[in-house]
Amino acid sequence: MSVLIFLESADSQIKKSSLEALVYGRNIAAQSGGSVFALVVGEASNLSLAGNFGAQKVFQIKDSRFDQPDAQAFAEAIADVSNQNGVNTVVLAKSSLTDSITAKLAFILQATAATNVVSLPDFSKGFEVKRSIFTGKAFELVNITSSKKVVSIKKNAVEVSEAQAAGEVVPFTPNLSSKAFSIKSISNEKTTGEVLLSDAEIVVSGGRGLKGPENWGLITDMAKVLGAATGCSKPVSDLHWRPHHEHVGQTGIKVSPNLYFAVGISGAIQHVAGISSSKVIVAINKDADAPIFKVATYGIVGDAFEILPKLTAALKAVQ
Ligand SMILES: Cc1cc2nc3c(=O)[nH]c(=O)nc-3n(C[C@H](O)[C@H](O)[C@H](O)COP(=O)(O)OP(=O)(O)OC[C@H]3O[C@@H](n4cnc5c(N)ncnc54)[C@H](O)[C@@H]3O)c2cc1C
Repeated sequence: MSVLIFLESADSQIKKSSLEALVYGRNIAAQSGGSVFALVVGEASNLSLAGNFGAQKVFQIKDSRFDQPDAQAFAEAIADVSNQNGVNTVVLAKSSLTDSITAKLAFILQATAATNVVSLPDFSKGFEVKRSIFTGKAFELVNITSSKKVVSIKKNAVEVSEAQAAGEVVPFTPNLSSKAFSIKSISNEKTTGEVLLSDAEIVVSGGRGLKGPENWGLITDMAKVLGAATGCSKPVSDLHWRPHHEHVGQTGIKVSPNLYFAVGISGAIQHVAGISSSKVIVAINKDADAPIFKVATYGIVGDAFEILPKLTAALKAVQ
């Protein structure tokens, strides 16, 4: 089963989530004895990583029209590479771009798509994967029985490890229909100049336990030391202590960092829905019975106003 992995780049760098997708796709190919192909659109200064992580061949499209995030064009290009190379399975890392590509791609390839996938396929049962559903509140096992598959994975679906392969870069010019590039992005407003919450490796999040916006320096100081993004619970943004784009949870941003700090956050189901695919969750809460401790990897029972300055100072000291 040959596999194609779509490598998304940002600021001319292949995203870490795409390297996870590459490892995921490499695992599928290893099980089935197929080839590992990758596709990158535009320049990526770290393109050699594709070979380091197991891509045998990397197709590269250099066409400035793809600077527009046109899902139809991307889907057609991915489908074209797939069809020309006998690919059965396409793997993408979940993002706002791939969210709009996945269904179109499945339609073009006449494939079955599974989105929000959080596990490698269980080949002993065919092609059974676990999906995160109901905005992270539950999991579903699905078996993809069609020969062509499109799998969109969430962050942390697989452990990242290197495996050297040729990584031969081959220019590719896709055949595109007249439907491609029929949407034009007029403007792009960046919500924050800091670390992007949805992509962050580390998130420091505060809840109503922080008592008011005047205390947020405790959160931002620690975030700065860790190079982390800052988040908050819904009531915090509803109270305008923090901007709405920092609100994490079912009705806000879903995050999948390696490390999530929940400070003064009770752990309501709607908040947990947005953090459940974090690798490690550290909860700081003065109530030992707070529900957040049920989902936390590590818990500190105590007053955030005492703990955060000490933790920040200790982190600074080891830098
Ligand atoms: C339809 C719907 C959608 C929702 N969507 C979301 C969502 O997307 N995201 C979200 O976050 N919520 C959402 N909510 C709200 C959610 O149900 C909770 O009300 C909310 O998450 C609680 O926020 P909190 O934990 O900050 O506040 P609280 O529930 O008030 O908890 C504060 C916590 O801080 C602790 N604390 C207090 N003082 C200290 C201290 N000094 N040091 C340490 N700990 C302290 C307390 O023990 C407590 O556990 C939604 C609700 C509904 C009905």
